[in-house]
Amino acid sequence: MKPMGPIPTWFAAEEGMLLIGGCGAASLVDEAGDTPLFVYDMGIVEAQVRRFREAIPAAVALHYAIKANPFPSLLARLAALVDGFDVASGGELARALQAGVDPAHVSFAGPGKRDDELEAAIHAGVTLNLESEGEARRALAIADRLGRTPRLAVRVNPDFDLKGAGMRMGGGAKPFGVDAERAAALAKSVIGAGADWRGWHIFAGSQNLDPLAIIETQAATIALAARLSEEVDASPPLVNLGGGFGLAYFPGDERLDIRPIGVALDSALEALPDVLQGSAFALELGRWLVGEAGVYLTRVIDVKKSQGETFVVVDGGLHHQLAASGNFGTVVRRNYPMAVANRFGAALAEEAVTVVGCLCTPIDRLGDRVALPPVAEGDLIAIFLAGAYGATASPAAFLGHPSPAELLLG
Ligand SMILES: *Cc1c(COP(=O)(O)O)cnc(C)c1O
Repeated sequence: MKPMGPIPTWFAAEEGMLLIGGCGAASLVDEAGDTPLFVYDMGIVEAQVRRFREAIPAAVALHYAIKANPFPSLLARLAALVDGFDVASGGELARALQAGVDPAHVSFAGPGKRDDELEAAIHAGVTLNLESEGEARRALAIADRLGRTPRLAVRVNPDFDLKGAGMRMGGGAKPFGVDAERAAALAKSVIGAGADWRGWHIFAGSQNLDPLAIIETQAATIALAARLSEEVDASPPLVNLGGGFGLAYFPGDERLDIRPIGVALDSALEALPDVLQGSAFALELGRWLVGEAGVYLTRVIDVKKSQGETFVVVDGGLHHQLAASGNFGTVVRRNYPMAVANRFGAALAEEAVTVVGCLCTPIDRLGDRVALPPVAEGDLIAIFLAGAYGATASPAAFLGHPSPAELLLG
């Protein structure tokens, strides 16, 4: 048996049936028409936003990184709750605008922005977080051709990283942003070219559960923003401090308490260096806002044995829930929290089972030797923490990029 991550404590059952947002899992499947199914509970997202507003100083804006979950009706609801959206592709930009968010509060980060994406962003008036000097050159040329003043921020590859982050995005050689040593020069050159310089984007890492590491990183981020701004000799309109708030996915993980982060930010904002006195600040969060709100429901097609091991075969798999399969950037495969939705809270079977998806590859494993109640054909398996990097993190769907072209020759 291998342990699984903690099932969020608020989930309960009625007559053995898992309730999501007050509705039974089986009736939600009926409503959607079939499995596999992602269900998102807006009440949980709203509670998370409230938790943020209560803990974090009002001077720090809340941006949603929509790559975590760009489901259109979720975006439309979030547009009214957060202060801005961060997008990572032309497809996400279109969805953000469709959700009704003010383009002045949208920023576009991510390496590999194509000319057509830069053009759409400049045309819409969103801020481009520049990832390289080459991208700056292309953005300025496109803006020139369109006769527009582009809104450009510089994404900095910081000279530190977020310690203990599940996914490191800064420190050392990285495809993200411009190395800190060259960031001021790039800002000066876009200002010199007549762009509307929007400030700094400094994202040091993701999926962190240690408030002290986040506090330390935010302090280093503010110090770096101040140093670079002094080099540029200009106050940045916005300092995007990145994010990094993590979720308790795995055994032993504990839910992040953001209150100490708010207290530390409060003192940091009290003691700002002069060059940042007039700046606005933002945190950009993806998974922390929406991850706990989602449950992935998949039906058991077959229960079979091989050499003494029991395999529960479901109609979903890693094409929907790549992260639960352990193939989304984690080094060691660990079990997401899961349950038999129609036997929620029932006594566990004596024997652990391995839950596999319907794809013909050994990596399509959603639960490795997990302890569940007895499982039968037709049961519903619920995988929790599926609200972020679920449906969207299926590789071809991730970031909303267009499908590749295919050619048959001969
Ligand atoms: C992915 C990403 C985020 C969101 O990360 P989460 O771990 O989902 O909070 C924020 N900013 C940038 C630049 C990103 O690439």
